[in-house]
Amino acid sequence: MKKKGIYKKMLTIAVVPILLFGIALTIFCYIRFKETLYNTTKTNMADMAHYIIITYDKTYPGDYSLVPNSSGTYDVFKGDENITYDYSIVDAYARETDTEVSYLYMDVRVHTTFKTETGKRYSGISANEETSAMVIGNGAEAFYKNVPILGKEYLVYYAPIRNSNHSVVGMVEVAKRTTEIKKKVMLAVWPMLLLAIPGMALVAFFSYGYTKGVTNTLKKIQDFLGRIAAGNLSAEMPPECIRRTDELGDITKSSIQMAKSIRASVETDPLTGLNNRRYVHSAVTRIAARSEMTGVPFSVAICDIDFFKKVNDTYGHNAGDEVLKAVASQLKKAMIGNGFAARWGGEEFVLIFDRSNVEDSVKILEGLADNIRAMIVYTEGYEIKITMTMGVSAGTSGDVEAIVESADAKLYYGKEHGRNQIVAEIPEEDKE
Ligand code: GH3
Ligand code: MG
Ligand code: MG
Repeated sequence: MKKKGIYKKMLTIAVVPILLFGIALTIFCYIRFKETLYNTTKTNMADMAHYIIITYDKTYPGDYSLVPNSSGTYDVFKGDENITYDYSIVDAYARETDTEVSYLYMDVRVHTTFKTETGKRYSGISANEETSAMVIGNGAEAFYKNVPILGKEYLVYYAPIRNSNHSVVGMVEVAKRTTEIKKKVMLAVWPMLLLAIPGMALVAFFSYGYTKGVTNTLKKIQDFLGRIAAGNLSAEMPPECIRRTDELGDITKSSIQMAKSIRASVETDPLTGLNNRRYVHSAVTRIAARSEMTGVPFSVAICDIDFFKKVNDTYGHNAGDEVLKAVASQLKKAMIGNGFAARWGGEEFVLIFDRSNVEDSVKILEGLADNIRAMIVYTEGYEIKITMTMGVSAGTSGDVEAIVESADAKLYYGKEHGRNQIVAEIPEEDKE
């Protein structure tokens, strides 16, 4: 299965909703603004239509009527005046309000500001049937959003014209170009988009940065834990992870603590609490490197309990363990300020003097050997006494192995030559 990282997921969670929200908000505002603008425009157009009707009434008091003329058609009269050829009222309104105005007797345009391409007025043209039925038939007002007139789109408002007996005799038509409204909407939406786009980009940028930081840290912690899991207990955590003050910083610190605990338990002998052979290896490599640099020697003593098998055989394994613990605590005490003691294996121990030549180490070992000889281990109802044999060598070389081998050879020599002693030098005649 394809692994989908936290990075991608977090980025998706952080950025996608912001983008969707931004888009939704823009669309919502666009629709609401457009609606509001249409409604306000509709109200304005209605007011204008009513005002035009009032203006006609004031200018030409009286009712409307049709009177036959000499050319066999009809003229429109209002009161006693023939108003058929007086376009002044519609022209004045159209000029002042940037609209097209028509004045219809029944469904026929008597006055109109609409002009064809040749400049001829669009008079005499009928309104459509639906509008006529609604306005003239029902006496209702009508508003249409996308009406094509002379090849252009208009918002159109119709208001009925009534005679004094309330019968509908015509209508006023106010028309406004749709493009104007659209232009206004775009003018309102653009600044919003100009604000929203950089805003969203900014949020996306910060989300991206933060997510990247978090996932980078997670990756580093994962690398660290991977190295610990692979057995590299001296793996180092990158300092930028430790510096974090959030939960990831806590995880970092806990991971380091965990590695330390693992390291401590891996490098500690559970019976005696001393460091074990594994620890000696890494510690002595460091000490040897420093000694090689400074020229100050370090010493290695290997110490083995004499006839320890007998202790086990005589007093039992538990008693043997108690003896091992007692010896360990003597070694630990002796090494305070001198270096450290470790369990080398079984009843064998190693002492590392980090800045000491053989003579100085022997002095400390003599005191230690005396203490061990004088020590009585009270256990399982017995009083157990033991002795130890020790071989000690020193050096300033990084070749730790050679120094350990030399100390081991001396220990072996001591075992072969009476035990219970410290061997710092094998006599010339006994060297192979
Ligand atoms: P030598 O003086 O030559 O060192 O004789 P030794 O008996 O001390 O040496 P040997 O190697 O023959 O025996 C070591 C014994 O130490 C054998 C083993 O059972 C015992 N031993 C090793 N580890 C432990 C331990 O953890 N607890 C106990 N009780 N005994 C242990
Ligand atoms: Mg032994
Ligand atoms: Mg041994």
